[in-house]
Amino acid sequence: MSVHRLTDYHVHTPRCGHATGRMEEYVETAIAAGLAEIGFSDHLPMYWLPPERRDRSVAMAMEELEEYVADVLRLRERYPEIPIRLGVEADYIPGREEDLARLLEPYPWDYVIGSVHFIGDWGFDNPAEVRRFAEWNLSDLYARFFALEIQAARSGLFDIMAHIDLVKKFGHRPETDLRPVYREVAAALAQAGVAVELSTAGLRKPVGEVYPHPDLLAECCRHAVPIVINSDAHSPEEVAWGFADALALARAVGYRQVVRFSRRQRTAVDLD
Ligand SMILES: [Zn+2]
Ligand SMILES: [Zn+2]
Repeated sequence: MSVHRLTDYHVHTPRCGHATGRMEEYVETAIAAGLAEIGFSDHLPMYWLPPERRDRSVAMAMEELEEYVADVLRLRERYPEIPIRLGVEADYIPGREEDLARLLEPYPWDYVIGSVHFIGDWGFDNPAEVRRFAEWNLSDLYARFFALEIQAARSGLFDIMAHIDLVKKFGHRPETDLRPVYREVAAALAQAGVAVELSTAGLRKPVGEVYPHPDLLAECCRHAVPIVINSDAHSPEEVAWGFADALALARAVGYRQVVRFSRRQRTAVDLD
């Protein structure tokens, strides 16, 4: 199955402090893979924390944001053979919606990816904080996590929701039936008008499974939630990684289209 109609919109840069390689190498991997477009979406600065608590191994510093945008725009001139989109991955922090909107406002984004990486002050996807899963009833944790995802989708701040079931990253799963939860999440995403990413990053993590779970992806398809296929690349060789398998899965659950973004406008494209 060919990936030539696909885009990879979830791509990091070394500015975030935990990705490797030059931006040019990410673009060149996308060209070599035959993708239709690539988009950068590095981690937005930790805007909700006071400056002294912002961790430079998590996200770029506030004063780097402008340079990041300029770097992406400059790459467009250098690689006319592939459209290069300007995106960003922004953390959703309840109560900080206005701060986020203000920070995003000055820049010509093609799309904004929304992520939930924090439950309160717990960075639950950080391997250094994995012991805190033991403090939770997993069914309660999943309910809390998905409520945050739904709140984020409804905020109107985001075009694409990232790794929508990231809470499973290390393999923690409740024994309860998640299908009713998946139905509720998919219905909320549809109502909020956001797209969801089918991310191959989960295949490289302990859970060993794409985000979202195939049952949740199928539920998103039933509710006509648009998808993009993303890698969440933190190194150049991860661009388009696993895309043939992701495309096969998208088709298997019923998707016939993906969406693309330009200046925060969404366009549907047939898979083939
Ligand atoms: Zn990252
Ligand atoms: Zn990411």
